Amino acid sequence: MLLKGCGSGCLFGLALGDALGAVTEFLNVDEILRRFPPNGPQEPTGNPARVTDDTQMALCVGEALIEAGGVYTASSLEPLLRRAFVTWLHSPDNNRAPGRTCLNACGKLEEGLPWERATVADSKGCGANMRVAPVGLLPLGGDSSLRGAIAQFQAALTHGHPTALAASDLTAYAIADLAAGGTPEQLPQRLRSYALSQRTVYRSDWLGSLWQRPYINTPEEFISRGWDECLSVLDRLDAALAEPNRDRDPCEATGEGWIAEEAFATGLLCFLLFPEEPVAALRRAAVTSGDSDSIACLTGAFAGAYLGMEAWPSYWTSRIEYRQRLAALGELWDG
Ligand SMILES: [Mg+2]
Repeated sequence: MLLKGCGSGCLFGLALGDALGAVTEFLNVDEILRRFPPNGPQEPTGNPARVTDDTQMALCVGEALIEAGGVYTASSLEPLLRRAFVTWLHSPDNNRAPGRTCLNACGKLEEGLPWERATVADSKGCGANMRVAPVGLLPLGGDSSLRGAIAQFQAALTHGHPTALAASDLTAYAIADLAAGGTPEQLPQRLRSYALSQRTVYRSDWLGSLWQRPYINTPEEFISRGWDECLSVLDRLDAALAEPNRDRDPCEATGEGWIAEEAFATGLLCFLLFPEEPVAALRRAAVTSGDSDSIACLTGAFAGAYLGMEAWPSYWTSRIEYRQRLAALGELWDG
């Protein structure tokens, strides 16, 4: 059960983090501090405060889920996600440094190729899970198996690497857990248990023959490679939290976030360093050497899922780009 407006809090947090990190994405920490003295960007600027492809694609996923009308199967969701992604591909607003994997795969989805052939088979870019938060908010009555399947499937349309699938599943799990009142302190442990429980679960009714590669013998071997990479990054997260350091670039601990499992872990680390200070968490996430908009987008999604809409200053949320669409989706999932 969702509490405190967690759907809205999560989606607005995602967009605010994206906007705050958008101006720091391709800069290292020294460059960020020189350009935004003395401590980096403190708030999203402009009206509207512009987001990037992370928020645009999260809206695609969220709106496709609503359109599905409660029927969540591969065959019901595939055409809806395909259409939403292709519409995004051609949107005049799709000019926010979109990822190459998404552009390539969406181009092939538009040509009408089956998704298994449109997807970029070996990509585990963070485009897979920067957009997955809405799946974590779906009211599925605690059906973590269905949530995991949807999370993996929405990733699979563009990113076919097993780690893209596992990291998207794990990201949605964390959102659902926090929105249901899970405590931040024990979250890494719960994530580890979940990852271990899923290690050899290949969702063939959703993913079909995606696992088939020359060097892979079984579907279980394919998916376990993804979960093992997630378990490795959870080790790095645990090590960082054992000696928490709010002043060090989080990318040094859990990676720069260009790939899905690192975006997940570094976004989560920023939240867990400041679990009750969401604005400080977002500012930390924006002052990072790596993929700052995707890291901060995930930090904001976690913090907002945990704390709800009260996490965010109203003079930020009233200026954020796409606020009507974010609010319309959030309202449906506030419980
Ligand atoms: Mg982006």
